[in-house]
Amino acid sequence: EVRVRFAPSPTGPLHIGGVRTALYNYLLARKLGGKMLLRIEDTDQNRFVPGAEEYILEALAWCGIVIDEGQGVGGPHGPYKQSERKPMYKQYADQLIADGHAYYAFDTPEELDAMRARLQAAKVPNPQYNSITRAQMRNSLTLPEDEVKALLDGGAQYVIRLKVPRKEEIRFQDMIRGWVVVHSSAVDDKVLMKSDGMPTYHLANIVDDHLMEISHVIRGEEWLPSAPLHVLLYRYLGWESTMPQFAHLPLLLKPDGTGKLSKRDGDRLGFPVFPLEWHGTDAETGEPTLSRGYREEGYLPEALVNFLAFLGWNPGSQQEIFSMDELVQAFSIERVSKSPAKFDQNKVKWFNEHYLRAKSDADLSPYLLTALTEHGITCSQAKAEQIVGVMKERVSFPNDFWQEAKYFFQAPTEYDQAVISKKWNPEVAAALVAYAEAMPTAPDSSADGLKTLFNQTMEAQGLKPGQVLQALRVAVTGAGAGPDLFETLVILGTGEVATRLRTAVS
Ligand code: GLU
Repeated sequence: EVRVRFAPSPTGPLHIGGVRTALYNYLLARKLGGKMLLRIEDTDQNRFVPGAEEYILEALAWCGIVIDEGQGVGGPHGPYKQSERKPMYKQYADQLIADGHAYYAFDTPEELDAMRARLQAAKVPNPQYNSITRAQMRNSLTLPEDEVKALLDGGAQYVIRLKVPRKEEIRFQDMIRGWVVVHSSAVDDKVLMKSDGMPTYHLANIVDDHLMEISHVIRGEEWLPSAPLHVLLYRYLGWESTMPQFAHLPLLLKPDGTGKLSKRDGDRLGFPVFPLEWHGTDAETGEPTLSRGYREEGYLPEALVNFLAFLGWNPGSQQEIFSMDELVQAFSIERVSKSPAKFDQNKVKWFNEHYLRAKSDADLSPYLLTALTEHGITCSQAKAEQIVGVMKERVSFPNDFWQEAKYFFQAPTEYDQAVISKKWNPEVAAALVAYAEAMPTAPDSSADGLKTLFNQTMEAQGLKPGQVLQALRVAVTGAGAGPDLFETLVILGTGEVATRLRTAVS
């Protein structure tokens, strides 16, 4: 059975890379008829942010990523939060010790610092607690047995470390990268259990993936260096035959390709799905950190999902627009790329424009109506629908409707000077007055009717319609560009248009 998991740590708002990881897990689970689990990895209590867990659940739900089993949903392998599973891990650490694959280490923080300082002074490039340095440290591999016993009995502080072999090639197959081979000398004796009895990420992650019967581990490339250690743990715990398949997703780069996309890229790039008011306080300034999110920027979940799907995957065809169901059909790990994906702001905007335009006027009207209410303007549902209908081709975000459509509610007080200087002259002004005067006589106040009337009026004035059109738009809306002009006039109503024309020429 295919069982995948998203295993975030509740350390802050869900970063966009995390959402992509969740999405790819979800797509694979759906595609293969498997289950999508959510596990909260909160063993590092120092980095815990209150509320982050609720945030993760809400962000996934907003994106349409449905969890089958896990935190917030329940299931047969619970609890799904590691801090609540604390008593379950010790036996595995004990088993590793009994089998000679792990050991107690009694070194104090000062002793560890001194060791690192010694290695640094000797210009060892990457100081580690490993098969070489452990020999000089205080642990159950170097101390006499009775001393170890006395220390343990006396309640001495200790951690449990993995005994990484000295000379061994650790290999595993990654679904995206193929064979990965790492020499054990590059892996240090990672702490598995901290002195407070809390497992570290590494131990808890492997134990939980095993107990929760996870079949595929799909996660970001930043976890690739941990994978050899995880392979050793599966082997030493006797779980190698059911070890999950690994797939490490490509890095996300900044738009210019200069480096990794990170939370620090802030508002516009790595920003989270939506703000996290209780995100906490900035370590340096002590100020509360508020972040904006895609949701608040006006991104539609369908657009964000479609965009994220393409950050590291492609369908092998020209098709770019995919609903979630279509993504499920098309998705495969084989088509996930090894090379880093560049975050492209224009592309995510492009997706948003697409999904926005695909929505009905009735679905879009609330965005405008909400902004109008905020500005104390009343407007009928029908009129709001008409306005978003003509405007949706021109906006990228639902939040832009108000800004772009203001002139439907407020007569212009300023006119686009670039147009005025080129297109405005006494004949044009006179023609506009003539049009204003003809308006009450319009046989038909549809867009076509108003256009015909305009053409006739211009002909009578001895002008070509093209000489006056832009001036008409500026006089009525103040802006040099906008949606279909005669549709705009219809929505405004001929009375209002005539008034605005007279104001403009005066
Ligand atoms: N807790 C890890 C994270 O925050 C999970 C890594 C993994 O999927 O193994 O990303």
